[in-house]
Amino acid sequence: MPQKDYYEILGISEKASLEDIKKAYRRLAKKYHPDSNPNNKMAEERFKEISEAYEVLSNPEKRRKYDQLRQMGQKGLAGFEDFEDLFARKKGKEQAFSFEDLGGFGDLGDLFSSFFDLGETTRQRRWSTQRGADLFTEIEIPFDLAISGGKTTMELKKEEICPLCGGTGAKPGSSLSACPECGGRGILSFVQGAFAVSRPCPRCMGRGKIIRIPCTRCGGKGQIPTRKRILITIPAGINDGTQLRLRGQGRPGNGGGPPGDLIVKVNVGKHRFFERRGKDVYCKVPINIAQAILGSKIKIRTIDGRVILKIPPGTQSGTKFRLRGKGIKIDGSKGDQYVEILVEIPKNLSEEQKRLMEQFAKEGDLRY
Ligand SMILES: [Zn+2]
Ligand SMILES: [Zn+2]
Repeated sequence: MPQKDYYEILGISEKASLEDIKKAYRRLAKKYHPDSNPNNKMAEERFKEISEAYEVLSNPEKRRKYDQLRQMGQKGLAGFEDFEDLFARKKGKEQAFSFEDLGGFGDLGDLFSSFFDLGETTRQRRWSTQRGADLFTEIEIPFDLAISGGKTTMELKKEEICPLCGGTGAKPGSSLSACPECGGRGILSFVQGAFAVSRPCPRCMGRGKIIRIPCTRCGGKGQIPTRKRILITIPAGINDGTQLRLRGQGRPGNGGGPPGDLIVKVNVGKHRFFERRGKDVYCKVPINIAQAILGSKIKIRTIDGRVILKIPPGTQSGTKFRLRGKGIKIDGSKGDQYVEILVEIPKNLSEEQKRLMEQFAKEGDLRY
C-alpha cells in the first residue's frame, strides 16, 4: 500500500541528488543483501524495500510522479485506507454485491500502482450504467451443417433481468433511498489536487441509490438465473473453432446498461467419409484390382450429391483425382474435392483365381 516512504527507506532527504540516492542504495544494499544475511527474513524484506525505493527514486520520471503523490500528503493516501476498510465492511455484510460487478475495478491493493501509472486517473466513468459481461459458450455442430450453413439452437444458462423488480433489486412498491455514502452520486472521489480520482461507490455499487426492502424474487440482485433456448445462425462453410458473436445475448447490464454479447465457439464434428481442409474436401475411395488394372467408372459421394469418376486403366493405389468445384463454397468461390484411390489387394483367392494369377504372372514374366 501507498504509505511507503522511499526517502525514509533509503535514509535520505527529499532533496537528495541522484548521486546521494545511489550512494545510499549501495551502502544499504550491501548491508542487507541476502548473501550477507543467509536465512534472515527481516533482512530479505528490507532488501526488497530498498530495491523498490531505489528503482523509483533513481528514475527521474518515476521520482517526479512519486514526489507529486507524496506531496498530496497523508490526507489523500488516508482516503485509500478508508475506502478499503469501507469495502471490506460492506462486503462482509452484503453478500449480494460482488467485486466483479464493479467491473474492471482491479485489486484495491493495486490502487497505488495504477495511480502511479496515471492510467486510471484520466478515466472517469459513471458506473451506474454498466454494460453486461460477455458470455462464452461452445457448441458442436455436424459436418454437414457447417458446410451448408443453417440454424441450430442451444440451451444457455444465464442471468436475466428479474421480471418482478425490473432489475432494480427493490421490492416492487418499496422506495429506493439516496445512498448515504456517496450522497446519491454513485461515485466517490478520493484524492484532491492534481489527481482527482473517482471510483464507484461500494455501498450502492455506483447506482447512487440503495434498496430499502430487497425484491423477494431475486433477493436484491436484480437478476435471476434462467435457462434460455437461443437460435444460432451458422454461416455456410464455417470453419471448426470459429467464434460467433451474438450481440446482446450476454449478461444483462447494470443499472439499465446494455447487455453483453454471447460468444459461441463452434466446433465442427468429424465426418466419416469427408475430411476438410479449408475450402477443399478430401476422401479416400477403395477400388478392386480389376478396376485398377482394367479401368472403371465409379460413383463418388460429394458434399452435394454423387458424381461419376472415371478410373483409367492402370491406376495406382494412392492416385489422387481432383473433382473441380466439388469443395466448399465460401465467399462465392468453391473449393475442390480430392479423391484418393486405394487399390484393395484380395487376400483369399479361390483355386481358380490363384491359377489364373499364376498364369498372369508367367505371361508377364513376373517373378513371385
Ligand atoms: Zn427482483
Ligand atoms: Zn453510494
